[in-house]
Amino acid sequence: MKLGAHLSIAGGVDKAVDRAEELEINAFQIFAKNPRGWTGKELTTEVAELFKEKSKSIELASSVVHANYLSNLATPKDELYKKSKESLTEDIRRADCLGADYVVLHPGNHTGSGIEAGIKRVNQALQEIINEFNPEAKLLLENVAGAGTEVGFNFDDLLAMTEGIPLKRVGICLDTCHAFTAGYDLRSEAGFDGLLTEIDDTFGLENLPVIHVNDSKEEVGSNKDRHYHIGQGKIGSEGFARLVNHSQMKEKVLIIETPIDDNGDDELNLKTLRNLGK
Ligand SMILES: [Zn+2]
Ligand SMILES: [Zn+2]
Repeated sequence: MKLGAHLSIAGGVDKAVDRAEELEINAFQIFAKNPRGWTGKELTTEVAELFKEKSKSIELASSVVHANYLSNLATPKDELYKKSKESLTEDIRRADCLGADYVVLHPGNHTGSGIEAGIKRVNQALQEIINEFNPEAKLLLENVAGAGTEVGFNFDDLLAMTEGIPLKRVGICLDTCHAFTAGYDLRSEAGFDGLLTEIDDTFGLENLPVIHVNDSKEEVGSNKDRHYHIGQGKIGSEGFARLVNHSQMKEKVLIIETPIDDNGDDELNLKTLRNLGK
């Protein structure tokens, strides 16, 4: 199992690798810079090298960078669009410096211009970034819950954002909590199979390398984004057991983004997932 958690980079990005070693996980996700600010402390070559050395020494299977939350590529506002593109490019640059495999991004909010316009904006941004920067890391669009004017809560819309871009450059990160509240009922086998079929028919399951494994505090179809502890939310243990034991999910990188209400919550959620695996 490639199992990991979203880890803090407090004290330097290389500290995330120390945290992974403590948690005995072989994958993780980090923010490459402050997720709620536009700028970040410079990433020095020394720290990047240290990160790579440490990652090698713990035999890390995969590392993922999550892009900034302020970024909104779907925005109709030119200034925010430009800023968002620059921020994402910086996240990708850092991911490449660290040798990360993937950069996960939320498509954004159309804020009134409509879903189609939002999708076009994201597509334009991705094309420009890939043409101008030529990233080594694969970009992964994360499915969202569909709150407010969020775009990207189904896979046809996400696929439309990749028009004209080869799928070796851009794929999907599936968030189970977002899928559930967007209306995919992961409590049942039919619901889970339906979701996988939809991903396979659009991106192909080979272009789904990373899964954010989160239970949901909110009901199916509620379009709300509130992650919860594995097995204790509305999806429940059975749904996650089906996921971790599914033959086509074996090679996927599973990352928890569950709440940390108490010390040791990551340990507990990781343990729950390990125990669900047969
Ligand atoms: Zn997520
Ligand atoms: Zn979320």
